Amino acid sequence: MAKYVYDFTEGNRNLKDLLGGKGANLAEMTNLGLPVPHGFTITTDACRHYLAEGSVPEGLEREVDEHLRALESRMGRKLGQADDPLLVSVRSGAKFSMPGMMETVLNIGLNDESVHGLAKQSGGNERFAWDSYRRLIQMFGKTVLGIDGDLFERALDDLKGRRQDTDLDAGELQQLVETYKGIVREQTGKDFPADPREQMRLAVMAVFDSWNAPRAILYRRQERIPADLGTAVNIMAMVFGNYGDDSGTGVAFTRDPGSGQQGIYGDYLQNAQGEDVVAGIRNTIPLQDLEHLDKPSYDQLVGIMETLENHYRDLCDIEFTIERGKLWMLQTRVGKRTAAAAFCIATQLVDQGLITMDEAVTRVTGDQLAQLMFPRFDGGAEKKKIAKGMNASPGAAVGKAVFSSGRAVELAEQGEDVILVRRETNPDDLAGMIAARGILTSRGGKTSHAAVVARGMGKTCVCGAEELEVLTAERRFVAPGGVEVREGDVISIDGTTGEVFLGEVPVVDSAVVEYFEGAQEPADDLVKAVDRLMRHADAARRLGVRANADTPEDAARARRFGAEGIGLCRTEHMFLGERRRLVEDLVLAATDEERQAALDALEPLQKTDFIGIFRAMDGAPVTIRLIDPPLHEFLPDIVELSVKVATEEATDKDRRLLAAVKRLHEQNPMLGLRGVRLGLVIPGLFAMQVRAIAQAAAEVPGARPEIMIPLVAAVQELESVREEAVKILADAGAEALIGTMIETPRAALTAGQIAEAAEFFSFGTNDLTQMAWGFSRDDVESAFFSRYLDLGIFGVSPFETVDREGVGRLMEIAVREGRAARPDLHLGICGEHGGDPDSVHFCHEVGLDYVSCSPFRIPVARLEAGRAALAETDSDTR
Ligand code: PEP
Ligand code: MG
Repeated sequence: MAKYVYDFTEGNRNLKDLLGGKGANLAEMTNLGLPVPHGFTITTDACRHYLAEGSVPEGLEREVDEHLRALESRMGRKLGQADDPLLVSVRSGAKFSMPGMMETVLNIGLNDESVHGLAKQSGGNERFAWDSYRRLIQMFGKTVLGIDGDLFERALDDLKGRRQDTDLDAGELQQLVETYKGIVREQTGKDFPADPREQMRLAVMAVFDSWNAPRAILYRRQERIPADLGTAVNIMAMVFGNYGDDSGTGVAFTRDPGSGQQGIYGDYLQNAQGEDVVAGIRNTIPLQDLEHLDKPSYDQLVGIMETLENHYRDLCDIEFTIERGKLWMLQTRVGKRTAAAAFCIATQLVDQGLITMDEAVTRVTGDQLAQLMFPRFDGGAEKKKIAKGMNASPGAAVGKAVFSSGRAVELAEQGEDVILVRRETNPDDLAGMIAARGILTSRGGKTSHAAVVARGMGKTCVCGAEELEVLTAERRFVAPGGVEVREGDVISIDGTTGEVFLGEVPVVDSAVVEYFEGAQEPADDLVKAVDRLMRHADAARRLGVRANADTPEDAARARRFGAEGIGLCRTEHMFLGERRRLVEDLVLAATDEERQAALDALEPLQKTDFIGIFRAMDGAPVTIRLIDPPLHEFLPDIVELSVKVATEEATDKDRRLLAAVKRLHEQNPMLGLRGVRLGLVIPGLFAMQVRAIAQAAAEVPGARPEIMIPLVAAVQELESVREEAVKILADAGAEALIGTMIETPRAALTAGQIAEAAEFFSFGTNDLTQMAWGFSRDDVESAFFSRYLDLGIFGVSPFETVDREGVGRLMEIAVREGRAARPDLHLGICGEHGGDPDSVHFCHEVGLDYVSCSPFRIPVARLEAGRAALAETDSDTR
């Protein structure tokens, strides 16, 4: 019999797949003997069944009843019992944390009778009882019954006027409950459900349904969380932070999630329930101040934080509630952190003896490293600072101020950089947050929604800039001194310092980039941490890392960034600019002599190009790819040329060129005369390039050229080019490996034959993806990928991350059959995927020898290659 419900005493932290992160960690804390309210978890299996079948699995209700009875007997109260009610919370909890994206309902079990029981239970605290009841109707109405939350908000605002919610007395709250019940009746045609068990049943289903709420889908896509995991549901006896001033609720971090520094970080809100903190509804106080309010609870909390950090051996974040002086733990998890904090914390934990260096490397990601390589504001630039908030998520962002999520999306789609400015954000702002360069809020702490979500996304965020008066409806904000910023005005925000500037502030390279460039010795803690982790990753990795570079400057930078060679030197840019004229001569050549003259003119230029690159690479291998794109790309535009030819000034050459452009015009140029086909069709073209390589190699001591033939689909194509190349190399007394790209599906499928004529393969996954899916790589991403992502056809663009099932399978076949035919076949990848973290892991798994990527991604690839070798990565630490 399937088991769908687990008591907190039955689970543990390793059961995240089944119990979700929250459920697994509640169980873990229960096992550690920490003060966790009693409760149980409904599994993700049950959710997946519900989402697939539209109904809960058989037996679930019975199991829930059994666990509820056990909970009731432990608590000595029955759910919603009129004179002494047990109340429960119903909370979502997926495997990967999705802050604020799914639903929670608190205070389940209240109705017109049990509200009196609750008042009695609390020693006659009528205000508390009615406040809890109105919160239930409000949350339940919005999340379970689908009523517009603004209707409740407005009713609350009307009642409180300029007062705080805590200023409302019992009578007013009772009146609010009646108003809320009226809203429910009006909006749904039914009364608010009074039966506690029915409330619970509906809330559980609402949590299941929230897995597929639009904002949850959007968040998953952004964070690359699989769409089919489902959420667990946690049902827990309520504890109350809204009893009065001896109660409250808070969020704590065992270290600063912004910098990694050890200490007590967090926010606390007196007389409030959990959602009030995250929503930034009232301003919180720093956690340290709790020491003065309730020292015993504070001391206990600090002790628990230490226990948790030592137990999880990582930064933990915690949600807790204090109910009349008694501390309760409501959640913990390995906390999200900024990229800088991730590197610092990993090495700090090594120094504390909590983890090994191997583990430390698996605790940081290539994406985080990439974030550290983003530019920062120029310290020397003139700036007009207008406010300072909290440094919630680092980075330097410049853009036009916008005041709504919708407007952020709209302007971003038009190619504008925008900063989303809000009083506070809520989960409905997610699309705007994704579209914006940065996020600025005037309210809420480092644990507010804006801060948590921005940090998770690696997006620059300044929050709680209280000096700013944000007038959302008027699309403007006012800074101290009357400085006004309207929609469209440019501002700059610094997520590392929390500063807000008027206008555009220039940006400079990051310290981490300077370190990679060799310009900076590891000086500050962050750079030292990066240095240690990179060295360890380099020592651990099996994959080599090369660069895609086609100029001496790029090659030199790539080398400084740690490239061990060039995996792809594209030669086409060498035919542009001044040299276009020579390509035109080549195309227009009427005789063998004319063609040879054009090639002879190109050869010394090519030779100079290659000498520059060989020198920059200083004895490291350089894979030079012979010319690949269709020739017409080097010729004038057909429309412009036609216009010119129609005028008086046109020369004879223009007329001949137009005829050539028309002759070369193709309906599907990407599938036309390009790559190896060009080499076979235009006599002498590849030979000229091979000769230039041979001569350049002869002039640069230690040069290690590798000649790569593009777009091969059949071994015969390669054999033909190879034969000629071998002869030219021999004549010049030069040596070079000769290999091919594997970028057509046929090449992958006939890799065994092709390997007979190739000393190396390099996977051109850009074209391989294009041809495997039949997707034009230049068109489809903007044309319809968002629809495909919506439909879940793939979770991430296959042009970004190797599609393991299809393109990856072609690669596996080619690796296996290629190596079977030639055991020492050298294997690499040079498509864009070579610098994508997930694809680097795939390349490690299928046994490639190296990845090749653009210079700026080399550190990322090195780190990910190390992580791939060190860990069958613990994907739970996301
Ligand atoms: C590829 O197709 O993956 C490749 C590296 O070649 P290009 O992008 O130049 O077509
Ligand atoms: Mg290609």
